Amino acid sequence: MKHSPLFIRHSALCIAALAAIAASAAEPFVIARRGADACCGIVIPTNSGECVRYAAEELRKYTKRMTGVELPVIDAGSLVSPPPRAVYLGVDNSTCSTRSTRLKDLDAFKLCVSNGNLRIVGGGPSGVLYGVYELLERFGECGWFAPWCEKVPEREAFEVPGDLDFADAPAFDQRSASWLHTKERYTKGGNAFAAKMRFKHTDGTPGGKFGGPGVRYARGLSWDNGIKHFVRPETHFEEHPEWFCEIGGVRRGVWPWQVCYTAPGLAEFVAERVKEVLRTCPCADAISIAQMDCANNCQCAACRAAAKEAGATSGPSILFANAVAEEVEKEFPDALIETLAYQYTRKPPKKTRLRHNVIPCLCTIECDFAQPIDVSPYKQNISFRDDIRGWAKQTDLLYVWDYTTDFRNYTMPFPNVYALQGNVKFFRDNGVKCLFEQGAYQGRHGDFAELKSWLLAKWMWNPDLPMEPLLDDFFAGYYGKAAPFVRDYFEAIHKMQRFASSFPNKPLRIFDSVANSVLPDEFLDFAAGCWEQALDAVKDDPVTSYNVRMAAFSFDYLRLERLRRKTDKVLILAQKSIAADELAKAKGLAKSLLDRMAEAKDIRLAESGSRHEQLQKEWRELVARSPVAAQPMTSGEVEERHISIARKGTWGDYADDPKAADGKALKLFNSHFEWCSTFPMHRVEFEPGATYKVRVRVRVDKLRDGGEAFWAGVYDPVAKVGRGGIQPRTEKTSADYAWYDVCTWVPNEHEYFWIGPGRFGKDGKSSIKAVWIDKLEISRVTP
Ligand SMILES: [Zn+2]
Repeated sequence: MKHSPLFIRHSALCIAALAAIAASAAEPFVIARRGADACCGIVIPTNSGECVRYAAEELRKYTKRMTGVELPVIDAGSLVSPPPRAVYLGVDNSTCSTRSTRLKDLDAFKLCVSNGNLRIVGGGPSGVLYGVYELLERFGECGWFAPWCEKVPEREAFEVPGDLDFADAPAFDQRSASWLHTKERYTKGGNAFAAKMRFKHTDGTPGGKFGGPGVRYARGLSWDNGIKHFVRPETHFEEHPEWFCEIGGVRRGVWPWQVCYTAPGLAEFVAERVKEVLRTCPCADAISIAQMDCANNCQCAACRAAAKEAGATSGPSILFANAVAEEVEKEFPDALIETLAYQYTRKPPKKTRLRHNVIPCLCTIECDFAQPIDVSPYKQNISFRDDIRGWAKQTDLLYVWDYTTDFRNYTMPFPNVYALQGNVKFFRDNGVKCLFEQGAYQGRHGDFAELKSWLLAKWMWNPDLPMEPLLDDFFAGYYGKAAPFVRDYFEAIHKMQRFASSFPNKPLRIFDSVANSVLPDEFLDFAAGCWEQALDAVKDDPVTSYNVRMAAFSFDYLRLERLRRKTDKVLILAQKSIAADELAKAKGLAKSLLDRMAEAKDIRLAESGSRHEQLQKEWRELVARSPVAAQPMTSGEVEERHISIARKGTWGDYADDPKAADGKALKLFNSHFEWCSTFPMHRVEFEPGATYKVRVRVRVDKLRDGGEAFWAGVYDPVAKVGRGGIQPRTEKTSADYAWYDVCTWVPNEHEYFWIGPGRFGKDGKSSIKAVWIDKLEISRVTP
């Protein structure tokens, strides 16, 4: 055989390659052999885009790391004649050339050896990249567990079977597991990692180099409460109060609001705004006009009639989406209009049909997640099964928004891994096209975050991959020598949760508190030993030691928050003293968790920013506290800093106030009338069975008499009942501080005190400017 010009230009290609050509097809195709010269080039088509070029670079990079051999990347246009032996990368232009093709066909790939060459052919550029990763994982045994943790074995040879002929495609068009470490910007390695997971995020979409987006949402209005981009009370309520929901006979122009879907002219207005946006991004596949993230669906006569006519409370929102979609289609025939099937719109309408260009995005927020949706005995799971089947009958554009973490406590054990695969299969089998698995998207190291997102990546591609080998692979790769100890803990918490949740009244839900966790205190003491052994096993390896330390965070978080309920008291109103050793243990855990937060930098404790801050504030106070427990009293005060504020900065904030006893107060704004401020009773040590009284020291900046100044009470969330409360009128309040008796009752530790600014008048407006809270006083009223 004569030397082709390729060999002249790429002298690294060796004579050994020529011998390999004669080898039989059944013998392995060698991509690279340690110690030998490169015998194979990576050929990419001329004018390849950034994604195919990146795929070639990734193949070159990891081949070199495995074998020490650097393969040349060759532009096909520079070849005078075909090389004798090469890895060809390319896109199959014959099938998947338009966006109307199903997106998953673009991600599909084929790996085959033919005529002495290895070919990696993608349905689209992303398919080429995913084909390269498949090759590296399957035949190189590479693994990517987190942006900071990968497995690249050193090999004598990187080779594939000589008769390789393998094709694969994902189960879903859109695959996104929204955990922060899979989404970070490229500089932190997140997008490169997302590509290896074959994710198609809609929020924080990987750039074209990494496989590009899946569904392209106009201006990134993705999977969201899109309606707020077109209509909002701040802009439109004054002129069009009728566009907003009617609750109790009053149109609502403050959060939490919804629109009135039957308001005359609103669908036309929104359709026009949608078209304006689409004109600026003509490539968009979809745009969201979905409802806001709250209850408060409109109770006006027309909306109630539309719901009745449709046979479901989703009726008005579907009628609205249909109307917008029909109008938008005239100018943008390919654009899809997305709306949510969420909370009050989760049940599909019985009569109203969805237009062909409307996407319903069905959400699992109410479900039990300890077991798959189609296995759990929980009532919400049972009704969800009917709902998804109802929607699937209406559309072939069904999207699902699923939840895979505890949003109140990202870093608390949430044993849901045994439900993940069953749920992904369930969605596939019910015709779901796009799947969004929402996790702890705001911070790293939520409970088993790395494992859960990795498993979801595998299963969103192929829901039938068996679980055991995947778990073995991840635990060995991510926890190293600590794997057996972490696995023991992992299996134990899942076993306990699954047993508990086999009863209909013990679901694992996404806003559970530490008090809801089914893991008993005795288990936590036992499991502490597992984690000590795990940490000891990896103490000499910085990466796995970091991984184990951060994996233990959620376990330690639960221990601390449980201990704090017993020891971290603001007030001691009982004779029982707090055990000094338990207090010392709580202080040690709080310090350890704060240290790990400083080390990892972006751990997030809860979806709510206010709660995330409040917990850290309380931990810091605990660490600084004297180890000696306070002496019991019969009455005591709770300063405003111990009272939480939701939506800090929007609903209220801590502020200096010269009129307050200590110069500081909690100021509630008049932008809402929610129970925005709370104080949990577990922070007070009460004498069991005794009666207590709580009063609050408040002053009110009022706007008018005859309205409600504020409302306050004590609530029992278990019995779902108030224990007492007050709603003073503005004329009975003062601009100077005064004490208000709120409730006299026998406290339970799960109850809480709450206060909010007064409810609005019939005109939809607040009667106050602000409410200032100085402190609470809790005192014993029986001996
Ligand atoms: Zn209405």
